[in-house]
Formats: sequence, C-alpha cells, structure tokens
Amino acid sequence: MAEPVDFAQNLKQQADIVRVIGDYVKLRKSGAVNFTGLCPFHNEKSPSFSVHVTKQFFHCFGCGASGDVYSFLQKIDNISFPEAVKALALKLGVPMPKQAFSGPGEAADAALRGKLIDIHERATAFFQEQLRAPEAAKAREYLAGRGLDAENIARFRIGFAPDSGFALRDRVRGSFDDHVLRQSGLFSWKDRDTDPEGVNTPVANMYSRFRNRITFPICSEQGKVIAFTARTLETGEKAGPKYLNSPETALYSKSRVLFNLDKAKEVIRKVEYVILVEGQMDCITVFTSGFQNVIASSGTAFTETQVQLLKRFTRNIIVNFDPDTAGAAAAERSIAMLLEEDFDIRLVSLEPGFDPDLFIRKKGKDAYREVLGKPQRYFDWLIERALKMFPPRSPEARVKAINYLLPHIQRIPNAIVRDDVAKNAAQKFGIADQILRQQLRDAAGKRSGTIKSAQASGNTVAEKVLICALTDAANPELRQRAVEAVAAELHRGLNNESMIERLSSISLETDPMSLDWDDAQRQELAGVLIHGHEDVNEALLDETLYTLRQRRMEQRKRELNAEIAEAERRSDSGRLGQLLAELKQLEREQRPQ
Ligand SMILES: [Zn+2]
Repeated sequence: MAEPVDFAQNLKQQADIVRVIGDYVKLRKSGAVNFTGLCPFHNEKSPSFSVHVTKQFFHCFGCGASGDVYSFLQKIDNISFPEAVKALALKLGVPMPKQAFSGPGEAADAALRGKLIDIHERATAFFQEQLRAPEAAKAREYLAGRGLDAENIARFRIGFAPDSGFALRDRVRGSFDDHVLRQSGLFSWKDRDTDPEGVNTPVANMYSRFRNRITFPICSEQGKVIAFTARTLETGEKAGPKYLNSPETALYSKSRVLFNLDKAKEVIRKVEYVILVEGQMDCITVFTSGFQNVIASSGTAFTETQVQLLKRFTRNIIVNFDPDTAGAAAAERSIAMLLEEDFDIRLVSLEPGFDPDLFIRKKGKDAYREVLGKPQRYFDWLIERALKMFPPRSPEARVKAINYLLPHIQRIPNAIVRDDVAKNAAQKFGIADQILRQQLRDAAGKRSGTIKSAQASGNTVAEKVLICALTDAANPELRQRAVEAVAAELHRGLNNESMIERLSSISLETDPMSLDWDDAQRQELAGVLIHGHEDVNEALLDETLYTLRQRRMEQRKRELNAEIAEAERRSDSGRLGQLLAELKQLEREQRPQ
C-alpha cells in the first residue's frame, strides 16, 4: 500500500498546476513556460502572479505568495495539507487510499461527507420523481406559471417534497446509517433545540424537514447537491416561511456557497462579468432566458468567503436588485464588501414593482438584454441618490450630502478611482468652494493598506544566466558547465552568491523552488525561472562565463596591484617577483587568443 507522502507526490505529478489554478485565476499564456494572471492573494490591477508550466509552481511578484499546487490549494481554500491532497484527488478523479488520511477522525469526517453527498443525491432523485406524481399537480402548475418547461425543470433538478413526513425517510433508511440521516439536514424531530444531534430521538420518530414544498437543489461549486431551498405551496397560517432552507451541515455552509455558481462559472469567465440577483427564482429565470452568468445572493449579505469565491471568476458585477428596497441593508453590506475587494460594480434598476423574474416574463428577454446593456456605475447611482435625498440648494445640504457619500468613497481601495469619484461628486453638487472640495478629496485620500509593490530585481544578467543554467533540468550539459564555473568560484561577489552555490550542489531531480529560501531569494529564483529560462543557451552561457572570468581576473588584478604596492613598500623583492609574474600571466590570459 502506498504511503500518504508517495500518494501526494504521485498525485502532484499527475496534476497540471496550470489547470488547477486556472479554476481559480484567469490565466493567460505569457511565455513558453509561463502563465500570468491577477493574484488571488492580494489586490492588484495588473498581473504579477505567474504559474510555471514545467516546474509546476506559482509565484506572485507582488505579495510573494509562492509554492506548488498543494500550497496553492491550502492557501486559497484555507485548508490543511491532507485536505489539499484530498481536494486535488477529487479534482483529478483519483480515489484516495485509506492511509492518506492523517487520522481516523479525519477519515470518518470525509466518509460522512461522502455519505451526505450520496443521501442528497438520493433525495434529489426522490423529489424529482415526486414532482411527476398526481399529488404534485399544484407544484407543476406553479412552475408552469413561472415559465419553466420540462427541460429547465430537469436542468435545475427541481422537485417536489410530498406532504408525507415519512416517505423520504423510508425510502433512504435501508441505505444509510442512522447517524447519516440525523446529520443530513433533511429530517427534523421534536426537541431539536434540546437534542440537536438527535441522539435521544430514534430515527423512527424523525420526519421530513421539507413537506409540501417545491425543492430547489443548492449545489457545491463542483455541481454536487449539498442542500435544498424549498418553497411552500400552502398559504395561510400553517404555511411556515415562504422559503425553507437546509440547516448547516458537515456538507453545507450557507456562507460559503453562491447559488448557481456551479452552472454559471464557465460563462462568467467567458463574458467577464456576473449578474447578481436576489432570489433563486430570479436566478433561474434569468439563466433560462439565456443570461447564464447569473448567481443569487438569496437575500442575505455576502460573506468574505463568498466574495473571495466570486473574485476567482470575475471582478465585474452587475447588481440587479434595488439596493433601496427590502433587502437594502444586506445589499448595501454586500456592495461595501465588493467595493473593498476592488470589484467594478454596476447597477441595473427595473421599473418599480418588477423583479427580474417578473420583468422577463412580462416584457421578454430582449427587453431584459437592453436593460443589462446600460448599467449605471454604482457611484453615479449613489451620487444621484444623494442628490435626491439632499437637493444641493444650501451649503448645509451640500455638507450633508458629502457626509453621506464619504464613507462609501473611502471604501474604494484604488486611490485614483477614489479621487476621481470625489471630484465627480464635488462637481455634481456644484461645490465650487475650494476648501470643501479639498476636504472631500483629503478624506477620500485617507485609505491605508495598499500592498507595496515588488522590489525591482537587483540581479545582474550574469547571475540570471547562471541560475537558469543551474536549474535547467532539461539541459544537463549546460548545468554541468555552470556547476564547474561555481567550483572555479566565478560566482564570488555576486548578489546571490550563496543561492548560486546552493543551487550548484543540489541534484538535478531536486525541485529548486521546494527548498527553504528566504523571501528575497525565493523572489529572485522565481523571477529567473519564470522570465529567463527559455532564452538561456550554450552561447549565452559562454558569453556569461567569459564575462564572469574577466570580472574575476580584474578583481584579482586589483588585489595583485595592492599586494605589489605593499611588497614594494616593504622592499620584499622575492614576493614582488612572484606577484609580478602572476600579474603578467593574468594579463596574458585576458588577451583574446
Ligand atoms: Zn500576490
């Protein structure tokens, strides 16, 4: 049986880091061995994040984030090494050996999650089947009224939870252990408050959480059903909430999921923006009308995790719900979070009383396309709103309007954009007064936390060539010559002397990026590997070694001259003769043959 470490190594060799990272970062080819994109670990406008194809590592020249496919997954998903191995195995469809788990607890955890996915799959199929039953006539009618045809019902795997408390339980009971049923979130029991794990409640006393409701699966980013949101078909007092959601489980955490991202993500990447709507029904209607880059916020404010998740696909967002209405506070908080992450936010406002679902059903998708085509920049919308709230007829109103706008403006991470918005606001409010204008811009100028840009590399060309040759596993001869040059001490006095020495002593099989360099060295090494490799050949190495040899000889000449002066001062003629001979020899060597 394979050891966990071997398994991780083998798996890493099967993976293509470019494809794995490509799931999170939009990458562009920018060299023979190199892809670049916007770093997911810090805010930036122009790409300083590189992925090396042959050496299979990533490196950000902006923030210094660096490592292999596992460190990437660990960092971006905030998971442990064993979890990163599991995640990669899942992505590649490679089954995990049991030994690869770090402990029995973790294995049990993974096993439970696997079972929970299975039970959700079974429940989804069950609900889909029930939607065809006579009892579901009202549900089918509702869906038809929403303009959903059989194809789209199947696509979103919409189903129906019958009014029975036991039908689903009895269907799945034979296939799953009781604890899986208890922890699935699909069932409920009396005293859930005092007995949240259900340990004192036999499964026989458990009943369906969703009854007489239309079920909409909530999927993980990979498209696996992990929870449900279910709309009631009852009216009146007994109906309960209009939408009932699965509770948090080992599988499902509301704050980590974006509704419909699994189906939308490819299109979001392609068209380079995302449409955000409020409700799941809105989302489904917009999607099925041909605008597939749509996700739903489900009426709550974005969490940090969700914003980070979305950022992997785009930073351009069109928000299609009125931040003024019902979910105003949630929408406002979401927008604030998006602003801080440097999203380009635009709004489309539909006529009062319309949500996207109703709008498309009443006016058609062409009308919706038209609205989407002219979104308003968020700050233009905000300034308009401030103008309405505080018509700038008096200096007091102007001050109020500015005070209203300032906190929003200060959230913009980019100083140039911030200043621009502040100027624009001052103009719209007719603030001619230089002092007030300056105040506005000063306040807008206050924002810290910008990431300092990468230090310009102080490497000389010769160092780069030497480092390239030393790390070029594809060209052992070139490497051997570089190793000999180091043995001849030609690298002495270079900035990265110690690094070059170390590189010359490792074996060809060792991945140089895997060594424990300090941050500056890692930065140098990554830069050389990413930007230099393909250009280094025999001729360039020859030239470099010649230069280094000359440099070394010049240095020795300076030393000799100093020693000669010293020997003359001491009238040490024996020593003087020796030194002069060496100098003569050196000059002869320096002359081209
Ligand atoms: Zn970075």
